[in-house]
Amino acid sequence: MGPTGKFVETLADARLQSAIYTATGRLIEGRKKTVAPGVLPDYQELRTQANAIKRHTMENLDHYLLELETNVQRHGGKVVWCNDGGDVADFILRLAKERRAHLVVKSKSMTSEEIDLNERLAKHELEAVETDLGEYILQLAHQKPYHIVAPALHLTRYDVSDVFSERLEIPPETEIDKQTGIARNVLREKFLAADIGISGANFLVAGSGAIVLVTNEGNGRLTTTMPKIHLAVAGIEKVIPREQDLAVFLKLLGRSATGQPLTVYTTMVSGPRRQAEIDGPDEFYLLLLDAGRTKLLADAEKRQSLYCIRCGACLNHCPVYRKIGGHNYPWVYSGPIGQIITPQYHGVTKDPWLPFASSLCGACAEVCPVKIEIPKILLQLRTEVNRAKQQESGTRLERLGFQLWAWVMKHPRLFELGGVIGSTVLSNGDGKEYIRRLPGWMNFGPLKGWISQRDLPAPAAKSFRQLWRERRENNGA
Ligand code: SF4
Repeated sequence: MGPTGKFVETLADARLQSAIYTATGRLIEGRKKTVAPGVLPDYQELRTQANAIKRHTMENLDHYLLELETNVQRHGGKVVWCNDGGDVADFILRLAKERRAHLVVKSKSMTSEEIDLNERLAKHELEAVETDLGEYILQLAHQKPYHIVAPALHLTRYDVSDVFSERLEIPPETEIDKQTGIARNVLREKFLAADIGISGANFLVAGSGAIVLVTNEGNGRLTTTMPKIHLAVAGIEKVIPREQDLAVFLKLLGRSATGQPLTVYTTMVSGPRRQAEIDGPDEFYLLLLDAGRTKLLADAEKRQSLYCIRCGACLNHCPVYRKIGGHNYPWVYSGPIGQIITPQYHGVTKDPWLPFASSLCGACAEVCPVKIEIPKILLQLRTEVNRAKQQESGTRLERLGFQLWAWVMKHPRLFELGGVIGSTVLSNGDGKEYIRRLPGWMNFGPLKGWISQRDLPAPAAKSFRQLWRERRENNGA
């Protein structure tokens, strides 16, 4: 049950561990500084407001989506309703054929990653080039995003030098400024030649029909204005009621994601170019994607998973993500948010280990700018996994184990005796080695797997119960 091969490699890779820790550590520090009470006194109030706006919107999603459609059309754009990734790809391929389009430029979009859009288009020989620097590096390296905000977080400048050198056939270059220059030169040509620009959307404003993009590299603006056709692909949960709601979300998003009060570019796009305007596309389409979202919406408790604004703060603060990295999760959404949405989109039986890959420390919920109760949802998903597993015969042994455990827990003296025996055994030299040397019948099945991944720390000199007893005696209680 659970990932093994790559996961073990990640833990053993000191360079990768250092890259993950350094990058997430920087993001943690940045966030901490920009949400500090002295800098943003109403931070907690903003989180409460963001949660309330999202809750209200999800409860009235049908109303706001129709309002959004009306306003997109009012500005000359078109809305395309897509059930799944297949619908998105079919529409794009049909449009590309009609307009004789051959090249697509894309700005960063986790939604398009979610539906494997590039791969779907490539199958029909429509080239889609990523223009976000991190995404561009990953496209060259044939890798999936490692993090929802910083997709190439795991790569050092030396790794990037290798990727550029191999794929672009240029001499190695390890200076970051020069690497950026290399990518810029290649991508400028792509922008100039592209027929279609595909973006995602951070927010969709129902009241005005605008799509809002929050970026740092300027490629979002080039994607949405240079090609003759602009397509925005967005999940239906990205809608917010009014433009004034952005005052709440924009204050939270940059801070939670990268520790910036605002990202470098905040772009609002409302339909195609008007008559008097110089820049902008001739055609604008908003592709609204369901792909399982309405299934989540139907669950009143877990529906809050759709509040996510993809800031990545829960990943940065998660002790599990910081050890196992982004590629050991089964889908493009990694970390705590991936752990709660993947089972809901794909079904709890597909990767049943996923909701259990958490210490439930609660750091994710503490930092989530829209106050999603991630640990609570993880517990609900665990219950669902267990319920589903009760049908399987393979879990009988596990159930027996838990029944035995419950029985011991109900008998305090027995529990204490077990503690004394356990600590005596483990105090005898290196505990892990000792267990390994236990008779073969103990070192198999779940116990073997457990031991292979964990260190057994030396037991404390006194158990909690002993300490408690002594304290009560000393206090005369
Ligand atoms: S769940 Fe919350 S913290 Fe995690 S990415 Fe979404 S909004 Fe950010």
